[in-house]
Amino acid sequence: MKNIIFLAPPAAGKGTLSEMLVEKYGYGHISTGDLLREEVAAKTELGKKAEGLMKAGKFVPDEIILKLIENRITKPDCENGYILDGFPRTKIQAEKYDELLKDLGKELGIVIYIDIDKQMAIERACSRITCPNCGRIFNKYSVEMKPKVEGICDDCGAKLTQRADDTEETFIKRFDEYMEKTMPLYDYYNKKGVLKNIKAYVSKYDTFAEAVKVIEE
Ligand code: AMP
Repeated sequence: MKNIIFLAPPAAGKGTLSEMLVEKYGYGHISTGDLLREEVAAKTELGKKAEGLMKAGKFVPDEIILKLIENRITKPDCENGYILDGFPRTKIQAEKYDELLKDLGKELGIVIYIDIDKQMAIERACSRITCPNCGRIFNKYSVEMKPKVEGICDDCGAKLTQRADDTEETFIKRFDEYMEKTMPLYDYYNKKGVLKNIKAYVSKYDTFAEAVKVIEE
């Protein structure tokens, strides 16, 4: 199975799409944001270093991220393919990732770019609620994505919370930083011939259908 890198601004729906693809294809799912939030919640040394940067909508240093990635892609659930959600975010991270793959004898796979309008992303992020226990993502105002019982996770019954960095002000900073630092990756992967474009639709099923098409083509 092809490894997948998602290249998408915050709130483009890569987390939700990853959940759907993991269910369909059995991929390992690697979200650097989730890995970092776990470290923060567990109050590890790494988490303490990352917390302030994340709250400010800033990037966490490459050494930390690369170490998390190396530990994760060598786990058994990633043997038959994995989805990278939130990494690489800069050209330097992409180059370091290429070196890591070479060292580990692993394939790059394909890169899927999810195109989303900034205003739509802001609205989505500000109404997004997540389960701190199992990581499932909901949206207060979406018919498709709202929890069955308000404020409670459908899967595990935990109380849903809003991410600390999903306030409008922080979100706009994250969106703009993403565009500035990550868009050069679009050209980087386009030149390698591995880039596939899809659109973020209002319905997650439409976005999913497009993703399946480019994965299977
Ligand atoms: P995300 O959940 O992907 O939106 O990530 C949340 C936050 O984690 C980001 O705003 C960054 O502070 C940090 N982060 C996640 N992935 C990376 C990465 N690849 N490089 C640097 N910082 C990251």
